[in-house]
Amino acid sequence: MANTGTGRLYVVATPIGNLGDLSPRAREILGACTLVAAEDTRHTGTLLRHFSIATALISMHEHNEQDRAQELVERMRAGATVALVSDAGTPAISDPGYTLVCAAVAAGIEVIAVPGACAAIAALSVAALPTAKFCFEGFLPARTAARRTRLLELAHEERTLVIYESPHRIGEALEDCAEIFGPARECVIARELTKLHETLYRGTLAELSVRARQEPDFTRGEIVLLIAGESPTVDEDTGAELDRVLRVLLEQLPLKQAAGLAARLTGARDNEAYKRALQLKGAPPSQ
Ligand code: SAM
Repeated sequence: MANTGTGRLYVVATPIGNLGDLSPRAREILGACTLVAAEDTRHTGTLLRHFSIATALISMHEHNEQDRAQELVERMRAGATVALVSDAGTPAISDPGYTLVCAAVAAGIEVIAVPGACAAIAALSVAALPTAKFCFEGFLPARTAARRTRLLELAHEERTLVIYESPHRIGEALEDCAEIFGPARECVIARELTKLHETLYRGTLAELSVRARQEPDFTRGEIVLLIAGESPTVDEDTGAELDRVLRVLLEQLPLKQAAGLAARLTGARDNEAYKRALQLKGAPPSQ
């Protein structure tokens, strides 16, 4: 079928709990498009009815995404506008959608983001863990051995880790994290965001592992687990040498240059030298 040039794919975020989070633009597009491709048509049907939207629904979930993507691409080529939604949050983020987006791009169909809620980003925004850089891990493997292997691979990650986890597994996952990352690593559990029982639990991995065992509410509802990245460390000798070199260089050079040079001279990591230089200068550390 020839591409008429009018078909489009809108990737529309829907609320992760609070229906007030559906944006006016998302509402307008869901009402005006030809077809809404939904992970679960019954679930999205309830959302559409709530907003008095009568657009036709078609299912597109992990088991039919491949076939459905081709079918929807043909319809968009013929001029249809399709809105892709998942059950909650942003499609294609630990949800179906990637295959359809790729198929649309390959067919030269315009793909338009209609952003809104995303549990990972909402959790990160309130976690009070470093946000300048983070690493979205999606779901950890469900099986213990595979989960522990993955956690070992992540043990030296310096960026804040953002993980989706099922309430049934959060206790075990926290215990594995405490063992592999060390019990003192700071973490946050963001539970039931935007919903009635929204709660943020903050503490070390050891503390939250204990609470997961003791407090039944802790392991109910939907959860994002956020874990501080590993702090870059320098051994004692390198640390002392780094300080000595930095003190000399900071007398002559701007902080950034002194830190860069000190890192090269001592073998310390750039970010560690920079952090230490800030401390020696008495400046507050940046995130
Ligand atoms: N695409 C969605 C998004 O943009 O956030 C994520 C879908 S994924 C299948 C579902 C997971 O997201 C849940 O298991 C949970 O880890 C997280 N999640 C979704 N809604 C949440 C909420 N209201 N509070 C906390 N976590 C939530």
